[in-house]
Order: sequence, then C-alpha cells, then structure tokens
Amino acid sequence: MRSALGGPRLLLRRLREVMAEPVSPQARLDKIVIHIAANMVAEVCSVYVLRADGRLELYATEGLNREAVHLTTMRTGEGLVGLIAKSAEPLALADAQAHPAFSYKPETGEEIYHSFLGVPVLRGGNTLGVLVVQNRARRIYSDEEIEALQTVSMLLAEMIASGELQALARPGDETALKRPLALKGVALADGVGLGHVVLHEPRVVIKQLVAEDMASEMRRLEEAIQALRDEIDTLIARGDRLGAGEHREVLETVRVFANDRGWMRRLAEAIQTGLTAEAAVERVQNDTRAKLQRQTDPYLRERLHDLDDLANRLLHKLTGESYVTAREILPDNAILVARSMGPAALLDYPRAKLRGLVLEQGGASSHVAIVARAIGIPAIGDVANITDLVEAGDPMIVDGSAGEAQVRPQPDVEAAYAEKARLRARRQEQYRKLRDTPAITKDGLEVKLHMNAGLVIDVQHLAETGAASIGLFRTELQFMLAARFPRASEQEALYKTVLDAVPDRPVTFRTLDIGSDKVLPYMDKVEEENPALGWRAIRIGLDRPGLLRQQLRAMLRAGGGRELRVMFPMVATIGEFEAARDIAMREVAYLKRHGYDTPEPLRLGVMVEVPSLLWELGPLCARADFLSVGSNDLIQYLFAADRDNKRVASRFDPLSPPALRALRAIAEAGALTGTPVTLCGEMGGKPLDALALAAIGYRSLSMSPASIGPVKAMLLAADLRETSAFLQPMIDQGDDRQPLRDQLRAFAEERGVPL
Ligand code: PEP
Ligand code: MG
Repeated sequence: MRSALGGPRLLLRRLREVMAEPVSPQARLDKIVIHIAANMVAEVCSVYVLRADGRLELYATEGLNREAVHLTTMRTGEGLVGLIAKSAEPLALADAQAHPAFSYKPETGEEIYHSFLGVPVLRGGNTLGVLVVQNRARRIYSDEEIEALQTVSMLLAEMIASGELQALARPGDETALKRPLALKGVALADGVGLGHVVLHEPRVVIKQLVAEDMASEMRRLEEAIQALRDEIDTLIARGDRLGAGEHREVLETVRVFANDRGWMRRLAEAIQTGLTAEAAVERVQNDTRAKLQRQTDPYLRERLHDLDDLANRLLHKLTGESYVTAREILPDNAILVARSMGPAALLDYPRAKLRGLVLEQGGASSHVAIVARAIGIPAIGDVANITDLVEAGDPMIVDGSAGEAQVRPQPDVEAAYAEKARLRARRQEQYRKLRDTPAITKDGLEVKLHMNAGLVIDVQHLAETGAASIGLFRTELQFMLAARFPRASEQEALYKTVLDAVPDRPVTFRTLDIGSDKVLPYMDKVEEENPALGWRAIRIGLDRPGLLRQQLRAMLRAGGGRELRVMFPMVATIGEFEAARDIAMREVAYLKRHGYDTPEPLRLGVMVEVPSLLWELGPLCARADFLSVGSNDLIQYLFAADRDNKRVASRFDPLSPPALRALRAIAEAGALTGTPVTLCGEMGGKPLDALALAAIGYRSLSMSPASIGPVKAMLLAADLRETSAFLQPMIDQGDDRQPLRDQLRAFAEERGVPL
C-alpha cells in the first residue's frame, strides 16, 4: 500500500496521543483528519457525523474547503457518504464522479478529487458517521487501506460515543447517538414506566484499543479462543447450561463459529492493523452486526445472536471481566433491556427498583411476560435490535399497554407519558375503591370475578383486587422456574402456601400444562412437527402417570381437610377426563388408607379448550364437577391460528359469530345441567369481550389481577339483558355488515359503559 508514513499501526499510535491531548473537541478532530490524510497519503480526509435528524454533517476536513465544516450536510442514502451510512459497508472507488450515487456539493470544492474511500463509523452495528479519504489521482485503494481506515474509524466511534462531539453540535442538530427513538413492539405487561436503561447483559467496555505489540496481541487472542473452545466443549460434554435459557443447540452453534476459519482470519487481520485483541473482536463483531442486521431472514438474524454471544464470551476472556450481572449493580428506576430473558432471571431482580422491561424477543404468552404481569412491571417484547439501539443509562419510557418504547425522549414526550402514568395511577385508585363492591350489573345480575395466578407472589393480589377466588392456578410455572424437577414435597409446600394464604377463598389448581411452547429445560425436548397439536398437558400426564400421580398427591395432601379444586388441561375426550379422574380418586383412596386427611369437598373439573368437547358438552357436564373455558387455546384451535404467531394471531376475532356461538354453547350446557362454568382465558379480562361473555350467559370469569378493576367497572355500568337482546341476534344471524366487535363497542359507548 502507499501509506509511506509508517502504516496503520503508527497512525493508531499517533491518534492515541491526539486523543489524550487536552485540546478542544474540534481541535482534536482537526488533528485527527490531518494525521489520517498524511498517513494514508491522501489529499483529503473528512469526518461526517450522523445527526439525530438523520442527516450527515461534515464535522472536520483536511483538504476540502474548511468553511464547509458544520455547513455541509446530506441525507442518509444521499451521495456516496449517505450511501455508506445507509449500507454500513465500506466503499472504494477509483472514479467517484462516475458512480451513480455521486452528488456534488459545490461548497466543499471536492470536484477535483477522483478516487474515494469511505467507511462507516460503527458502534454496536449502528452507523454513527462516515470517514472518508480522497485522492486527486484515479487510484485503487488496497484491501489493507480499507482495513486500516476501518480500524481508525473505531477511534472516532469511541469519540462520538463518549459524547465529546455533542459540544460541537448546534441545538437541534445533536449527534445520532443521542437521538430520540420511538420504537414499536408487542405489549406484554400493562403499565407505563419511566426510568433509565440497564442492560441485562452489560457490554464489556474496552479500555485499550491500540496495541503496544502485535505479536503479543495475537498470542492473547489465540489463547483466549482456545480457552473458549475448551469451555464450550466442556459445557456441551456435561450437558450443562450456562445461565438461563442456554440450551445445547445454542452452544453447538457457538462452537461452530468458534472454529470458523473466516472469523479467525478477520480477527487476525484486525490485530495486524494495530488493534488490541479485544478491540479486534469488537471491530469484527461490529461489521458482522451491521451486515446481519440488514438481513430480513430470521434465521440469519438468529445467527447474529449466536455470534454476539460468542464475541461477548471472548471479550470477557480477554479483558478478564467476569460476567457481572446487572442485578448486582441495579440502580433505582431501572428499565431492563435484554435480547431475551427467562422468567427466573426476571424474578432475580429486586422488584422495587424495576420500572420496565424491553425485550428483543418474547411474545405475550412467553413466561417472562407472565412473570412481568405477575410482578406488575410494564413490559414490551419483539422490539427489533433494541440492545444495540440503547446505551446503559439512556432515559427510556416503556408503555406496556400500547407496546411502545421511547428512548431518550424529548421533554414534551416525557411530560405526556408522565401524565399518562399519573392518570393510570388515579384510575387504579378508583379500581381499588371498588374492591369490596360485588360486580352486579345495572339489571341486578352478578358476575363473579376470579383471578389467574401461577406464582406465590400472585396470591397477594387476591386481597388487593377483591377477587372471589383463584380461578386458575397455572402450576407449570413452578416447574419452569426450577432448575430440576420439583420434588413431591416441594410441590406440596407450594400448594399449601397458596391455600394457606387465602384460607377463606377457593383455589382451582390446574395440573401440569407443559409441552408445546412450555418446555421444561431439564426435560428432554421431544421433536415434533406440530408441538401445539402434539404431546402436551394431560396427554403427557396420562402417558406418564407417575408424574400426574405425584402432582395430584401433592395437591391432595396440601388440600387435606379443606376445599380443593383441580382441573385438567387440554382434555380432548371424555375418556381422558375419566382416566385423569380415576388417577385422582385412586390417590384419594391411597391417602385415606394411610390415614391422611383428604380434601373436603374435592371438585374435579375440565378445561374446555379443545373444540372436540363442544360436541360432548352434555356427557361432559354429567361427569365433571365444573368446566373452565380456556379461550386462548379454544380460539386458537377453532380458527387453526397459532396464538403466538403474530402473523395470524389477530386475524380472527373471538368476538365473532362462530366463536361466540361456541362459547355460548358451553355456558348454556353448564346452566342446563347446573354445572359451574368459568372462563379463564385472556378475553375474560378485556372489558368489551367480558361484556359479550356476560351477555351470552357467563356468570364467572377468571382473569389477570390487573383486569379485575376495569372489568368490574364495566359490569357495574352494564345492562346485561339489554346487551344480550342486542348481541344475540347478531350471533345467530352472523351479521357481517360491520364487525360485531365494532357494533358492540358502539352500543356500549352510547350507554356510557367504560371499556
Ligand atoms: C387458555 O388456554 O385459555 C388458558 C387459560 O390456558 P393457557 O393460557 O395457560 O394455555
Ligand atoms: Mg390453555
């Protein structure tokens, strides 16, 4: 290459000296461009910084007209510089003016320069700016020169990220790093939280970018990679997990990357340009991220996470920084940001300090979402790229109801959300006042409101909300949070704690509902084509009766001498219910024989969530003590639409004639035979849906604790007979001129029913 003045390593060393000089940020930038131009034997070197408004602003130049600094700007995507910012890839051209994207900025005087080399200034895969060198002569830049400029750009990234350049920005033209962002995700847990970002997996901070001695950096890298490979091999051999949610497959993928020659070659090249081993890892990972982030293929994006994982492990090895979890250093008002998180990890954080949770992955029915709802933290999921878009400490707002996040919000946005949070608190206060008021409608009909639970901490909500009982206790959460199968004694202790906590109100336990999306990390995963239609819930219970028997025994012992209600999930035939009931009754007989107190009364019920039962309602009611409608699954199976698949989940409406006819048939069968029926799916907790359910005959709904207040407020203002008279004909006739939901909403709003 033509860099006659000592190559990239010398340049890096010079620049490091410049970074340490006590000069103004502008003077530092000016020196940097002079050094780069000289070292690379270029007539021009310019730095463009991406602003919050998406424009690239010329911040410093050697060779172009200095008057243009802070005046010349261009859009991302505009001209060659804009193109680099957009693609996040280097661009080297012998004749820049012949390139279709070339756009001429007369104030810079650049028309005399022909060859052009530009590289993105990247951090975490995001573009912060563009660094350019230009030459008058038409020349081809070598790969080494491109590599060298990319390395230098890391120093600029550090400078921009440190906030130093902020001082040079005119008000309103702040650098992109501090740009406010409005992000959209999926609502996971209600509420509005204001606070500051805490990364669940803190990034390793690289203190030294520039190497003293290349050979020793190569050695450090090789040793660290070897140690990492050994560690992964050991983990795989032990069949172990490192941290939550890391399964064998992930480790296997990481192992493949750890042995990838291309990856190691890129690392070695980065070290040859003068970087320390850790800076080389960061540099290569930045490039990879920038490339993969632009991929729409979910498989490739997933690989990015594996690579991130690998880079992160390697950085920890190289810097000697231990895996300090954010939990150990959690500040107040924390908004947790993570790629993904297991329910146990969330529970590990001190609840009092958390204001919100934002995840890159994770849908509404994920377990971490269930835990977030249980502990009352606003949460959103499915926010693309969030871990790269924020820095620790950034101000952030989470709106868990709308599924939105505001990063570094402007003061007016922040004020609006603070107001929203205050309003919400006021509404919550009103709901609290309704706690002891029974949900009796204007026409004198009572609807019992129960709550869903799954964790011991949920139980406190019973008193807070005034719920009539725990209508659904999802026992699988205990199993999912545990590191191994909970022992019978542990199960019994949990059920007893729950029952003791609410001595005056019944609890309906549901037996283990695992399989499909609910996998136990310590149980062998069964590969199935269609897990939702596969081996799950009661199907596992009946095929592995030892498991079911153990759980039933734990429940029966915990409930000895008092009322106990138990129901079975995913029952598809009467025979399955009878088989499950037989196991339960055998356990009762066993306990009696051994002198234990058994529950009195014991009620055994069925979850109605598989459509086949809709045509067995009569015989089912004759056998079961109660029915509980699992509308989440029932609707999913009725419409053949995966409840967790965003593409189809909102395509079909439970407030539509076919779904309401099915739901009505269950309520009617219960009423006809005197079999109690409760509905415990999510729709029961949505005021408008609950209005429809009450109007078609439901007198018992079980929902998340936060929904009890709004549903009760709705019922107190509703007239069920009038609503029923309005709704039933639409259900019968399948009137589709306007969606039933819209018509019912208009009807309720006209009557002042709060929804
Ligand atoms: C349901 O399916 O509606 C239900 C309550 O159970 P889960 O959401 O746990 O499947
Ligand atoms: Mg279900």
